[in-house]
Amino acid sequence: MPDLRIVNLAKRFGPIMALEDINLDVHDKEYVSIIGPSGCGKSTLIKCIAGIIDPDEGEVFVDGKLMRHIPIQHRRIGYVFQEVTLFPHMRIIENVSYGPRVQGEKPQDSKVLVTELLNLIKLADRADSFPSELSGGAQQKVAVSRALASGSTLLLFDEPFGALDAKVRTELRYEIKKMINDLGLTVLHVTHDQEEAMSISDKIVIMKGGRIVEEGSPLELYMRPKMIFTANFLGEANFLKAKVTRQSDTGSVVKVGDMFLQTSDRTRKAGEEVVIAIRPEFMSIAPGFKGEDTLVGKVVGTRFMGDMIRYEVEIVSGEIMFVEHPICFGELDIQLEDEVALKIPKHLVAVYSPPERGLEKELQLE
Ligand code: ATP
Repeated sequence: MPDLRIVNLAKRFGPIMALEDINLDVHDKEYVSIIGPSGCGKSTLIKCIAGIIDPDEGEVFVDGKLMRHIPIQHRRIGYVFQEVTLFPHMRIIENVSYGPRVQGEKPQDSKVLVTELLNLIKLADRADSFPSELSGGAQQKVAVSRALASGSTLLLFDEPFGALDAKVRTELRYEIKKMINDLGLTVLHVTHDQEEAMSISDKIVIMKGGRIVEEGSPLELYMRPKMIFTANFLGEANFLKAKVTRQSDTGSVVKVGDMFLQTSDRTRKAGEEVVIAIRPEFMSIAPGFKGEDTLVGKVVGTRFMGDMIRYEVEIVSGEIMFVEHPICFGELDIQLEDEVALKIPKHLVAVYSPPERGLEKELQLE
């Protein structure tokens, strides 16, 4: 049974459809992240689950139990926001034991759990400190522990690391993830940070305009996105209009301008218009024009990024492609204005039907 089941959830704010037809299962001990452009409904979804907002339609079940009419404090769901919400006048230990205390537990009953939680976040020696004496990252760890002390096994995170600087944020994400694994918790995590979502999640849910567009493992969504929106939103991709010229048992050949490219797509017929997507790091770049199965063009920009060189290549059909060459494979003798060939393994060319509203509109994220 999933720990969290969301069925046909919808929420409207006046003319804005913030959530529409949301169906989602989060399984026991699963770590699921929600990503999507600003305003796509991520926080509204989390708030409906927590009980802060009542949905207009649909239901939320936690552990099989219907949450409708169950007030927030009785849902046994831990909720951690971006803003640290510790009580400033209470010591760390009092903050962590706050939930059990208001639920009427005697301090000695929750002492073992609270001590265990402080040990897990390596802050047992700061139990008597006040929040203002801890760093932002440490305060957020305390907030997570406080959310857990009431015995919730389902945690909702709404950008909990959003206000922290990049290095602390990265360290904290792995520390919290380990704690969640150790305690066997289920998490639904809203984040703007794609790298964060990819590195810690079992599953990523992509939202757009109040709806779920696609869900899958980070690897699936990155390597084989089913939707143009996903390929565009998660990571980066070059999109080109193309036409299928040949279809066989092992894949198809598409034509981009006057160039041909192999793909492993077997679902489209010769003559069909398509859109292909290729991630910048899926291509290798070499000086000089080369034969079949390459896109060819001219270098119109180069940028050294530290771990890679990013080339901007105007292919002969006129489109600009971004190509990334990892620096660990050595420097290339490629300069501005040089003619180059871009080689792409056929299984890394994603093929899509042209979007109804046009490719340009489809690629707009807002
Ligand atoms: P962000 O990433 O910017 O935090 P989000 O994906 O979390 O955005 P929500 O905050 O859920 O998006 O908002 C979804 C839509 O609903 C937006 O258009 C927002 O303006 C609108 N909205 C959210 N809360 C309210 C509210 N209380 N009253 C009116 N409109 C609201």
